[in-house]
Amino acid sequence: MKQYLRAHLRSAAPVENARKIDPRGGGRSCSRDYSADRQQSGSILQPFAGGAPLLRCALRALVPAWAIWLWSAQSAAQFSTSYLESRATFRKVCENLKLNSALLLECRQWTVPSPTDSDLQIDYAIIRPPDAKKMLILTAGLHGVESFAGSAMVNRFFSQWLEKFAEKRIAVALVHTMNPYGFKNSRRVTENNVDLNRNFPTRRGFLHVENPGYQKLQSVLEPAGPADTLVKGFLRLAFEMILRLVKMEFTLPDAHFAVAGGQSGSPRGLFYAGEKPEPQTAWLHSEIPVWWQGMSQVLLLDFHTGLGKKGVLHVMPADSITQSSVELRNKIFPGIHPSFTVTPSDADGYYRTRGALNESCEDLAAPAQAVAAATLEFGTLGDDIFNQLRTVNRMVLENQGSRFGFTSKDTEDEVKDHFKELFFPSDPVWRGQVESSTDAVFSLVLNKF
Ligand SMILES: [Zn+2]
Repeated sequence: MKQYLRAHLRSAAPVENARKIDPRGGGRSCSRDYSADRQQSGSILQPFAGGAPLLRCALRALVPAWAIWLWSAQSAAQFSTSYLESRATFRKVCENLKLNSALLLECRQWTVPSPTDSDLQIDYAIIRPPDAKKMLILTAGLHGVESFAGSAMVNRFFSQWLEKFAEKRIAVALVHTMNPYGFKNSRRVTENNVDLNRNFPTRRGFLHVENPGYQKLQSVLEPAGPADTLVKGFLRLAFEMILRLVKMEFTLPDAHFAVAGGQSGSPRGLFYAGEKPEPQTAWLHSEIPVWWQGMSQVLLLDFHTGLGKKGVLHVMPADSITQSSVELRNKIFPGIHPSFTVTPSDADGYYRTRGALNESCEDLAAPAQAVAAATLEFGTLGDDIFNQLRTVNRMVLENQGSRFGFTSKDTEDEVKDHFKELFFPSDPVWRGQVESSTDAVFSLVLNKF
């Protein structure tokens, strides 16, 4: 397994190189590794990507910096700045396609019940070409703040890819965001502090997540009192974690599940699985089998950001329960691909979660129906120990601030800005990588499904 993973990580290495290229043209050099060029598939330089290295190098030198800036700005324009803006884009595309194409498209909304906001709507669209036997389902925003990137990719599919899938008689269901509250308020959780991707039931019933490791770390992960600055939070977190490691209260591999695997004991804490399915969880869980009725093969892709190597798309398949699901998954996602890396949830540095959508939906498959599901996770900060600590620190402070407030307005702004940046980096290169690797996945699915 580790050899298999290492091979995939090696395949991701050029993507790491690619992120070091300054899109404004600064520091571009003809002597660097050209493998980086292949990863810039969404860039203005793409038409030259197949040329000889020297020719490409010369053209790079001729492309003015302003043109590359323009590309960056254009790329950024694909991403909305708010829930309402993104939702308006989804609705506009849906209505336009309904009016101007022969597609039998349904544009629908479902309102998430809320005591404070009557305008939290899950927009979704369904198209079922006659005689379709295969269905692709795209979901985004289980973790609300991750919708900034995930919903943008759903909108991208809607406007640029849907018709191609319909031509191949592949049915499609698109869910704009599963967590409108979290998207609207740049929070990861629901209004009830539930982590939706720990909240899905299985055939065996709703999960109660036993996580004694979290209980041991509870005082570290849930400090009381107003949240302080990022630096102070990081120093405290690093000191407490190292202390517990030295005292051998837990090991590093255990720490991943302890912190992030999900927990049922602390309703105001991190990664809380909830006591029962949230309304939107129950809604999706009951809708999906209706959508895919009559389909022999279903692929569900669920967009996330924040975990993994910076700028790398990690395709994280669910642990399939049937041979037909495994075969479907292997057919679509090859072992090695230049635009993403297949990362099993039990790989080094990663963890299995409980109550995740992708595990749950395979449970819902009808007999003789192959259902494969995978999380599409875009790394942001990085997956080394230092960046994992930075990630946890931002989540701890955001949770702490939501419970106890902040030591000052400046601290609040700093914590909230960095929390959003953790899940939606402002770096145009990162955003370009999200677009190009997502397009590579859509293209692969279109050709192999
Ligand atoms: Zn997520």
